[in-house]
Amino acid sequence: MHPSLADDLARLPELLAATLRQATQALHTLDTRPVVPRPDTPAEPGRVEPAPAEPAPTGPAPVGPARLPRHGAGLGQALEEFARDWAPRFSASAGPRYLGFVTGGVTPAALAGDWLTAVHDQNSNSALDPAGQDLERETAAWLRELFGLGPHHAGTFVSGATMSNTTGLAVAREWLGERLGVSPAEHGAAALGPVRVLSGAPHSSVAKALSVLGLGRDALVPVPTLPGREAVDPAALDRALAEAPGPAVVVANAGTVNTVDFDDLRAVAALRERHDFWLHTDAAFGAFAALSPAHAHLTAGLDEADSVCVDLHKWLNVPYDSAVLFTRRQDLQARVFANAAAYLGPLGPRPDLVHLTPENSHRLRALAAWFTLRAYGGAGHREIVERDIACARALGEELAADPAFRLLAPVRLNVVCFTLADTPTPERLAALRTAAADEVFVTPTVLAGTPALRAAFSNWRTTPADVRRAAEALRTAARGIA
Ligand SMILES: *Cc1c(COP(=O)(O)O)cnc(C)c1O
Repeated sequence: MHPSLADDLARLPELLAATLRQATQALHTLDTRPVVPRPDTPAEPGRVEPAPAEPAPTGPAPVGPARLPRHGAGLGQALEEFARDWAPRFSASAGPRYLGFVTGGVTPAALAGDWLTAVHDQNSNSALDPAGQDLERETAAWLRELFGLGPHHAGTFVSGATMSNTTGLAVAREWLGERLGVSPAEHGAAALGPVRVLSGAPHSSVAKALSVLGLGRDALVPVPTLPGREAVDPAALDRALAEAPGPAVVVANAGTVNTVDFDDLRAVAALRERHDFWLHTDAAFGAFAALSPAHAHLTAGLDEADSVCVDLHKWLNVPYDSAVLFTRRQDLQARVFANAAAYLGPLGPRPDLVHLTPENSHRLRALAAWFTLRAYGGAGHREIVERDIACARALGEELAADPAFRLLAPVRLNVVCFTLADTPTPERLAALRTAAADEVFVTPTVLAGTPALRAAFSNWRTTPADVRRAAEALRTAARGIA
């Protein structure tokens, strides 16, 4: 054994305790350090340059040795260097005022679950060593219940909503094949001929998925949305389906990123009485509306989809990377992802996970979700969702009351989409974002041609006090920009 490895093994408890101290420190300062450090954030004052044991770095390395160290000095040294050179440059994205994109944090139980995932290092994909995949199945069943899906939906863990959409659309592709009497999994996507994927305001990841799946971005046919909305117009979808030459795919949207608009999922599903299509619903974070009785109506009809995408590293507050794909047709999913090898289990009625996901080996990412669901239950996660919704509404009210700002959409759930009342150019909005970034992080967008900003609430730590701090920072920044 390399001496550094042997030494680390001998000192493991002590080194894990040092790691714990660093972790505790990072979490303890989430609320006080800049939400997003400025790019020129210096390394810690008093930084000691690394001893010149390594060849002199070449090239424009920002910090640290540019070349792979030939000999490392073990975990203790790596911890020190990380704390000195990298940790100060990381954003407080696990904290309460990182409101960019749609970003969740990590509940205490999810953190413990994630640590133990690495400790046990299970490759949970085969009945030959089944406990990991048993735990995944139990967790997927809990999630199904959380979102009000019925027992005919089987869930599989994947790395994020993009991969969940890709997996769902891969199953849709195989369903099209079934309808046409071919198998894209065996003979390639070309066997299908041109495919139509209809959607009102699809997430960008849907086009990426179609590219990956060999259906092509051109397969995506935009369908008009309701006036002033991001929700699909069911009558327009009806017409578009009538024009489709054969079976089609519909991507319904349950929670758009800009305005958190929801398609009328029941109206979309009802079109199946007259048209032949696979219904995939992208409910990446919108599915969590089901946890709030006051908003659950938005997800009515979710269960009727053939496949459903839900992200977990957003509103479930488990760490990256985690999402789930539910489908009623796991048989088709197994046809796509079957991985035949002499040393793997057979493809029975309850296929091993190796036959259900794009990867073969994968970490037991269900464990973090298992921990947070076990620790806080449906009621604990409902409280997070409802508090975030209340915070979004409160920020919306603060900004609406300020003449410097203008809301571009009602706050339907957990996102505030707003802009400057006066000359909302991308440059002025960027200046505003940067000026406020110590206190609050929001991200840019364009809504119906208007440059805008989004503040998305999905972190379990966020409280009304954070809303006040965020609003104050945005107001101050708005006064300060030219
Ligand atoms: C975030 C998001 C995605 C993509 O999720 P990743 O986890 O980043 O892959 C897809 N659809 C919707 C609606 C989203 O909000």
